[in-house]
Amino acid sequence: MAADSCLFCRIVAGEIPANKVYEDDQLVAFNDINPQAPMHVLVVPRTHVATVNDLAPEHDALVGAMMRRAAAIAAERGFAAGGYRTVFNCNSDAGQTVFHIHLHVIGGRRLGWPPG
Ligand code: AMP
Ligand code: ZN
Repeated sequence: MAADSCLFCRIVAGEIPANKVYEDDQLVAFNDINPQAPMHVLVVPRTHVATVNDLAPEHDALVGAMMRRAAAIAAERGFAAGGYRTVFNCNSDAGQTVFHIHLHVIGGRRLGWPPG
């Protein structure tokens, strides 16, 4: 997919506004536009990867950085001890709607399990 037609590539490029909470040379994190909990942040790589099925060994460090950033964001907001959830949705049965990988970081309320 071309970067100009991917919503999250456009957010990463600054072409579409988002409420960013973190960025570095690899990652951008911003608040979900339709939050499902008091904290609902999306951690997104700057590089376009459509789904977790498309991850390759070259992405291993990137995914590690995404996961550690999710934990850091949750900790900053005081949710480390109480808990929170991290989710990658993949393809239709999981409800993926944006085909640029993103790690949901959700917390601030009691979360049900199993998920719907
Ligand atoms: P998923 O269903 O896992 O693909 O999640 C996509 C997420 O992106 C949903 O939680 C949406 O609410 C969120 N989303 C869609 N458009 C935007 C946007 N412009 N800014 C922030 N979050 C968005
Ligand atoms: Zn993209």
